[in-house]
Amino acid sequence: MKDPVDFSIGQPDFDVPDELKEEAMKAIRQGFNKYSQTSGDALLKERISELVTKEVGWENPAVLVTSGVSGGLLLAFLALINPGDEVVIPDPYFVIYKHVPTMLGAKCVYVNSYPQFSLPVGKIAEAITRKTKMIILNSPCNPTGAVYSEQDIKALAEIAAEKDVLILADEIYERFCYDGPCTSIAHYYEKALILRGFSKPYAMTGWRLGFAAAHRCLHAVIEEMTKIQQYTFVCAPTPFQKAAIAALDYDVTGFVDEYRRKRDLIYEGLKDKFELIKPGGAFYAFPKAPGGRAAEFVAKAIKNNVLIIPGNVFSEKNTHFRISFATGNEKLQQGIEILCGLA
Ligand code: PMP
Repeated sequence: MKDPVDFSIGQPDFDVPDELKEEAMKAIRQGFNKYSQTSGDALLKERISELVTKEVGWENPAVLVTSGVSGGLLLAFLALINPGDEVVIPDPYFVIYKHVPTMLGAKCVYVNSYPQFSLPVGKIAEAITRKTKMIILNSPCNPTGAVYSEQDIKALAEIAAEKDVLILADEIYERFCYDGPCTSIAHYYEKALILRGFSKPYAMTGWRLGFAAAHRCLHAVIEEMTKIQQYTFVCAPTPFQKAAIAALDYDVTGFVDEYRRKRDLIYEGLKDKFELIKPGGAFYAFPKAPGGRAAEFVAKAIKNNVLIIPGNVFSEKNTHFRISFATGNEKLQQGIEILCGLA
């Protein structure tokens, strides 16, 4: 397609800040081009550990620097899942949560969060069995943009504690929160494995950096993940780990403010023509397709030069479609007009 309105890609439209590019180039020139320790650069790990202590109160957490949050998710699934285990996943969900556990022989137990996309705490409680290995929590959520309330997060923590189930918390979008802070389950639950990343807040999707952090009580899980990293990725890219140290001090408020304006633009532009829950975070909106027929609507949109993704990529249903609003405002306006014209 020539010059489409591309609402499909889940990555920021801004570039890595120049200061951070300089840090990566400096690290390369200084010779940080060999393997790092498997678990990550010592200084970066120390800084991550400080951040986790400051933000969620865990003293001396177990930390592993990973090749993106994708790397962290893969290592966590490999370390934790045995064939026959069950993984509880709120639906809609990010693609990896379904496919990797399925490859490892787990049964995915989907918990419907339509139509409001708030955290379905009661249904999650009902879905837990003796075979449940973990509950996946992704707030802000890809693809809905939902930010779960503190009250629901706390209620989930209580249920998980009662049933003694691990929570895998993918917090990759925690900086992209538009209407107030995003609560981490780590405040309320120690058996939570936290995954965060550098891809989204600093637009470093190609640098492949993320981290896993856990309370000391889960240090054995981080150790197993580290062992598997040694046998697979070996380590996250060394010079970029050096730049990530500076990234942790970089203020992304300006980017987040800009993305809040994009969120407002897309919500205001579509809400009268589509059934749409206002996204509170990330950079996605998940409207219902006219008549709940996503395949048909997506085909029509593509014919009209707008790339969107059908809901069944992220869900057991195919009634909605995902828009990534991480694009220029002119394209946003153009896409809104086309989609409204097709509704
Ligand atoms: N988790 C979620 C919810 C995502 O949306 C993404 C990226 N699309 C990832 C994890 C993986 O990101 P990365 O591997 O670049 O850190």
